[in-house]
Formats: sequence, C-alpha cells, structure tokens
Amino acid sequence: MSLLSGKTALVTGGSRGIGAAIVRHLAREGASVAFTYSSSGAAAQALAAELDAAKSTSTASSQSAPATLALQVDSLDPVAVQEAVSTTAAHFGKLDILVNNAGIFELKPTGEFTLDDYERQMGVNARAVFAAIQRAAQVMTEGGRIINIGSNLAEKVPSPGMSLYAMSKAAVWGLTKGAARDLGPRGITVNIIQPGSTDTDMNPASGPHAEGQRGLRAIDSFNKPEEIASMAVYLASDAARSITGASLLIDGGANV
Ligand code: NDP
Repeated sequence: MSLLSGKTALVTGGSRGIGAAIVRHLAREGASVAFTYSSSGAAAQALAAELDAAKSTSTASSQSAPATLALQVDSLDPVAVQEAVSTTAAHFGKLDILVNNAGIFELKPTGEFTLDDYERQMGVNARAVFAAIQRAAQVMTEGGRIINIGSNLAEKVPSPGMSLYAMSKAAVWGLTKGAARDLGPRGITVNIIQPGSTDTDMNPASGPHAEGQRGLRAIDSFNKPEEIASMAVYLASDAARSITGASLLIDGGANV
C-alpha cells in the first residue's frame, strides 16, 4: 500500500518546476491529483496524460480511478483559485491535501517597484494562498493537509531587489502559523516548506546568479525539485500527524 492511497490533492502551479515534481510524487504515492497552471498549457496536459497513463498500467490503482485534473487558473484571481479548490473536491468527492506552490519572483530596487508590481507579486504569492486555504478550510475534514511553498528568503535576504518577494513569502509564513492554530483542533495540519535555491526555470542552476547563491550554501549544489517534493509527501502522510505550524527549511544550509 502506498503512503497516500485513497487521498486526493490539489497543487497550484503544477505544470513546471517544483510544482510538477510535487504532482508526480503525490501521484506516485497513490494520491489522485488535480493541479493548476496559468500559461504552460502543453506541459500541463502532458503531465496529466503521463499520470493517467501510469495509473492505468499500475496494478495498485483501480481502473476506475478519477482522471487527473489540469485546471487553467490564474492565481492572480482569488475567486478562480477558490473555485479550483471546490472543483477538485467535487471531482474527487473530497479534498485531503492542498499544496500552495504557484509563485513568481520579480526583482527590483524597492524604490522602483510600482503598486501594480505589488498587486501582482502579493496577489500570486500570498493572496492566492489565503484564498485557497480559506476555501479548503470549508471542505477539508479530519486528517487534511495544507502545505505551503515559501522561501528561505522569508527569513534572510542576502542580496538586493527582493523586498516584495520576501514580503510575500513572509506573509505566507505568518498565515501558516495562524491557520495551523485554527485548523489543528479539527486534525488538519498546515506547514510551510522554505526552499532555498532550487534548479527550475525560475532559478536555473546554470543561470547568471547561480554562482553567488552557491557561495551562500554549506552544501553548494542547488536543491533538486524532487527534494522539495519528498518533503511534501512526508508532510502529507499520516506519519506527519503532529507536525503543524512548522517551517521546514531546505536550503543547503544557506540560512544557517
Ligand atoms: P517555476 O517558475 O519553475 O514554476 C512556477 C509554477 O507556478 C509554474 O507551474 C507556473 O505555471 C505557476 N504559476 C506562475 N504564475 C502563476 C499564476 N499567476 N497562476 C497560476 N500558476 C502560476 O518556479 P519554481 O518551481 O521554481 O517555484 C515554485 C515555488 O517555489 C514558488 O512559490 C517559488 O516562489 C518557490 N521557490 C522557488 C525557489 C527556487 O529557487 N526555484 C526557491 C524558493 C522558493 P505556468 O507555467 O502554467 O504559468
């Protein structure tokens, strides 16, 4: 029996990078998965087809397992995010796991950010997370799991240009702790994974800023998305029943 057999999940921003790795890991452990994307339609459809093909050849899965859902939802629209939570719960009959992963990273000196920049970065990285959790709190039952993908930049900012991003991730950290208090009595956990430099389109290990980031770490190679996904699987599992309100730093020691 796999770790997450019979569980259902929604991952925001599942078409690429860390989100796609989380989608694959949850599915591999037996969960039925829905995920959102905004612009990477082809990658999203290919991932959903990959998961459904794996399901149909797996002896562990029933042939009648509900299809993977790839939902085009712009996280800038909080109502659409809430509808994605409702759609997932209706499609699978329940929602056990919510992973708030979708995020954007925009750099500028503080004085050059506009209020539109603020709306976009806070909208995708923080408001959408609140919107999803607010709706999930209404549909989840005992044993529910909410996992937020933050950043190690929420606690330490080693270089310029990151004020809005750090603010957005710090907001999610605060939300994690408050929601953990509210939902704990119902047996629902809320945690935040704080990755450091992770090799994705957002932050390629071969990119122009990679060397400086490696220099901050005790373990100098970038995280792989799968390492974040493994932690998400653990937090989603029954074994993590008593972990809530926690911040799990995966950053090769950069913030030590
Ligand atoms: P990528 O840019 O590689 O992927 C981002 C994902 O989020 C894509 O699936 C993208 O979908 C989705 N997304 C972006 N904007 C929106 C939107 N408006 N609505 C819906 N989905 C959206 O990023 P990573 O995988 O690297 O990052 C994932 C998370 O991890 C983010 O929250 C990021 O802040 C965090 N993080 C990343 C680190 C890193 O070094 N990579 C370090 C610390 C934290 P689509 O392509 O369809 O638009």
